[in-house]
Parts: sequence; structure tokens; C-alpha cells
Amino acid sequence: MVVGGGASGFMGAITAAAEGVNSVVILESTSKTLQKVRISGGGRCNVTNKCFENSELVQNYPRGEKPLLGAFSRFSTKDTIRWFEEKGLELIAEQDGRIFPISNSSSDVIKCLRENAVRNKVDILTNMAVKNIEALEKDEFKIHCKNNKSIYAKKILLATGGNLSGRLISQSLGHKIIKTVPSLFSFKINSTWLTECKGISVRNVTLKLIIGKKVFEEYGTILITHWGLSGPGILKLSAFSARELNKSNYKAKLNIRWVNDSLTKIEENLRSYRNNFANVRLKKKYPYPNIPRRLWISILQSIKIDPNMQWYNLSNSYLKSLSNILFMNSHKIEARGPFGDEFVTAGGINLSEVNTNTMESKICKGIYFSGELLNIDGITGGFNFQHCWTSGWIAGNAIANSLSK
Ligand SMILES: Cc1cc2nc3c(=O)[nH]c(=O)nc-3n(C[C@H](O)[C@H](O)[C@H](O)COP(=O)(O)OP(=O)(O)OC[C@H]3O[C@@H](n4cnc5c(N)ncnc54)[C@H](O)[C@@H]3O)c2cc1C
Repeated sequence: MVVGGGASGFMGAITAAAEGVNSVVILESTSKTLQKVRISGGGRCNVTNKCFENSELVQNYPRGEKPLLGAFSRFSTKDTIRWFEEKGLELIAEQDGRIFPISNSSSDVIKCLRENAVRNKVDILTNMAVKNIEALEKDEFKIHCKNNKSIYAKKILLATGGNLSGRLISQSLGHKIIKTVPSLFSFKINSTWLTECKGISVRNVTLKLIIGKKVFEEYGTILITHWGLSGPGILKLSAFSARELNKSNYKAKLNIRWVNDSLTKIEENLRSYRNNFANVRLKKKYPYPNIPRRLWISILQSIKIDPNMQWYNLSNSYLKSLSNILFMNSHKIEARGPFGDEFVTAGGINLSEVNTNTMESKICKGIYFSGELLNIDGITGGFNFQHCWTSGWIAGNAIANSLSK
């Protein structure tokens, strides 16, 4: 019995059935399965990532890194690609490593999963919200649903995602839950000169997040939005600092290094511009192609430099201020982005209570876990689905093995 008709539940169910388990059933609380797959990746579903080195792959998981190394040695990104392509879903990698269905439509991933569930005779029961699970004697469980129906099962895969009910069920079976907090969110900042540049994305930026005595650093692309900052660099920073930011009530200091050079090098560069382009206006020509012009003008204006000024007019003190802001531009983070745009939950089932070779509970034999319910989460790029496919596949196989004995 698989509780939860999401990505990891489907992978677990299809694998168990394909490996010979009879009467595999998915119990889904809502009226439709795979709804997160549908909205994922902006409707395109970033299925996995072209990161083929497991030691490198695990570094994309702020929580779960070590246990995942063993899990990925059994089912990793290449296996995901093969698994889907063998079933007729063509995938394509983008330059940054993210892998999508070639059709760019999440509905094709859903179609592939549903068709393979049907082909393997997996029963899918919707509107079946599981309330609790009773462990009976003789290796059997009684599943109680909110609609007062109950079902017996020999093995149960809990694949309820970041949803509270799965954690409550696990708790009642004796598991400790690691407190859940959101991960992968944008930052709200109060610097209007910056947010006025909304829509601009900036490459090659170094970010330093300071929360009390803790410092988190990232390098990458950021996106300026009307309330603050987002984009891959910010989302990654939010993932690695998710717990500390939650503790500080999302108050922190963010230093942005717009130019990836030392302060001395930036000063030298600006000086040589002052010499070589003396009669050109600051806004017309500047040395940093990663900074879009609209942002460059805003940076100048934020330190009271007239963008129409010619380079020869830039005094030494202005040149110093400009170097300083390019090297370290501080902003106050006031909150998480307002739209609840976090994509995953950090926290969940404590991995020390799960045998990651089988995904079986060490506390309650016969219960298995997969997906977001576990204390595993990745950064953006297809890493969250990858651990869903991996844990679902391992659990499905382990259930099949244990039932065949
Ligand atoms: C907007 C958005 C975009 C995303 N895009 C991507 C992306 O492109 N790539 C990527 O890797 N990750 C992405 N993610 C993350 C990814 O969607 C999740 O990591 C993944 O869906 C988790 O899968 P799961 O099977 O563990 O849980 P879920 O997909 O959440 O499925 C759990 C299922 O269990 C059901 N359920 C819960 N409780 C019960 C119960 N008591 N009884 C019965 N059923 C129950 C739920 O209704 C749900 O259908 C995105 C997330 C969001 C929110």
C-alpha cells in the first residue's frame, strides 16, 4: 500500500509492481494524483539533473548529503534518464544541467507515470486520505482513512510529501520528526533603489549571508524582483541557511559582491577607465558586462554619482565609493518572499531512523519512506525529484524483495 500519489509514491508503486508484488495500491488524499509534478518547473517539470558524479551530486542537498551517497550508488541521475527513456519519455538537458521532457510539458511526465502504473496493474484510489496506521500482529497493518474506510496491508510505503499528515502518522508509529521549515525561497529586502531594477538578472555575483555569527556564501545568478531578490543564487543560499533563517525570523544581512574581483583590482580597473575613457559618460561605458546598464545606473545613483558624468570627472572619493559598493553592497533581509514560493520542506523523518539501503523504518518494520517526507531536500535544478525517484525506487525494490522471501 503506497500512501501518497506524488512522484516518489508512483516510483515506489511502479517499481514494486514491476518486481512482482501483487495488488499494489496507491491511496491519494486528493481527487488527483501527481499535482506537484504538474506545477513543477513552471509546468515543464525539471525531472533530474545532468550531474553524473554521485560525490558531486550529493553536494546539492543541504540535508541528506551523506546517506544519499549510498542511495545514489543504486539509483542515480543516469538511472532516472534510462528509466524514463525506456518508457518512451524523451528527455533533454539544458546548458545549466537541468533535464526536462523534450516536449517541455510536465503532463508528459504525468502521462508516463500513470500509464506505467496502469501497465503494471497498480490500483489508484483517490479521495482516500489516510488518518492513521495501526500495526497489527503477524506483520500486518490496518490503514484507517478519513472517510472511515479501512484497508489491510502487509507493507506500507509512506510517500506523503511535505504534508503534515504524513509526519503525524509517522510520529504515531514511533518516529521522531525533525522540525520542518521552508526551503528554497526568495528574500524580501527594503532597498528600493535595487528593487526598482525588478526583472533584471545578474550573473557571477558573490553572496554572503550573515545571520548572527553564522555566515553562508554562494556564487551565481540572482534575479531582482519587485519585493527583493530571487534567482538560483538566492534560492541556493536560502536552502543552505533554511534553519538559521527560520530561527532568526528571516532577519539577516546580505552582502552582494557585484564584481568578482578584489577591492584593489576593482579600484585599478575603474582608474584605468577614468584614464582611457575620460570623455565618455559613466552610463555609456563601464567595465563590468555582468551588470546590466539599468542596474549600473541605479548603483551609481545610490551613491549619488550622476550617471551622465564623464569618467574624467569621477573624483577619487567617488571612485572609492564606487569600488566599495561593487565589492560589498549590504542589504537588510526583512522576511521571506511574500508569495510562499518555497518549493520544498526541510526536515521530516529523521534519517538515522531509516535504513537507507531499503528505506525501511528501523522503528516499525514493514513501513517504508520515500520523497519529501524524509529529512532530505535539494536545491533547485531537478535534485528534489531525483531523490524522490531514488528513494521510491529503493523502497519499491526492497518491498518486492521482502515479500518474495
Ligand atoms: C511550485 C513547485 C515547483 C517545483 N518544481 C520542481 C522541479 O522542477 N524539479 C524538482 O526536482 N522539484 C521541484 N519541486 C519539488 C518537488 O515537487 C517535490 O520535491 C516532490 O513533488 C515531492 O514528491 P513526493 O512524492 O515526496 O511528495 P508530493 O509530490 O507532495 O506527493 C505527496 C502526495 O501525498 C498525498 N498525501 C499527503 N498526505 C496524505 C494522506 N494522509 N493520505 C493520502 N495521501 C496523502 C498528497 O496529496 C500528494 O499527492 C517543486 C515544488 C513546487 C511546490
